[in-house]
Amino acid sequence: MRRVLADFFAGLGPALLPWRCLVCTDPGEGALDLCAACRRDLPWNHCACARCGLPLPRPAPRCGRCLGHPPVQASTQAVFRYAPPLDRLLPRLKFHGDLAAGRLLAGLLAEGLAGAPRPAALVPIPLHRSRLRQRGYDQALELARPLARALALPLLANALQRGRATAPQSELDARARRGNVRGAFRLAPGIALPAHVALFDDVMTTGATLAEAARLLRRAGVARVDLWVAARA
Ligand SMILES: [Zn+2]
Ligand SMILES: [Zn+2]
Repeated sequence: MRRVLADFFAGLGPALLPWRCLVCTDPGEGALDLCAACRRDLPWNHCACARCGLPLPRPAPRCGRCLGHPPVQASTQAVFRYAPPLDRLLPRLKFHGDLAAGRLLAGLLAEGLAGAPRPAALVPIPLHRSRLRQRGYDQALELARPLARALALPLLANALQRGRATAPQSELDARARRGNVRGAFRLAPGIALPAHVALFDDVMTTGATLAEAARLLRRAGVARVDLWVAARA
């Protein structure tokens, strides 16, 4: 695991020195924008439902909700809980284009996902074009690209496309979120999908967006869809 992270940063070549912790500004540990203390305190989501990634008191193959309503995905790898410092690092990437935060997060994700069941391809959830225009970049893709490279996975960056525009999910409750994302995606014409795909997004809240994309992939003949997310709210 540690080696995956070291290889990942070595692959980036010489960078600005000295490394500073992006969370507390203390000196970083090794070639990492994170100090030893902040690294120790990272909210890894090890105790979770294997099916939906929901944080639980202890790891379980299914939570109560997944027993009652089995979700479309075979498994969910939510690397972190959405807690400090993820609640600061992810918005820094998302709203401020902080590439150092993105690089650190991608490295930590590569470490956290190195032991996960290996899909044949990684498919990022696309941002809608109108929001891409406002923001200038797509944070899920900015994380998925270095992650795919670190794990030597094919990245199908354009496999999913946004269909109709949807309202920002953050403004809706769980029920409205499901309706809001219905038909939100379409597949790129002529795209060839492998039998096992991992969908990637930065944050999973109710999971409605990811589930909608997963259903589309399953309907298109993908036998197994896993969800990979940076943080689970
Ligand atoms: Zn620190
Ligand atoms: Zn569950």
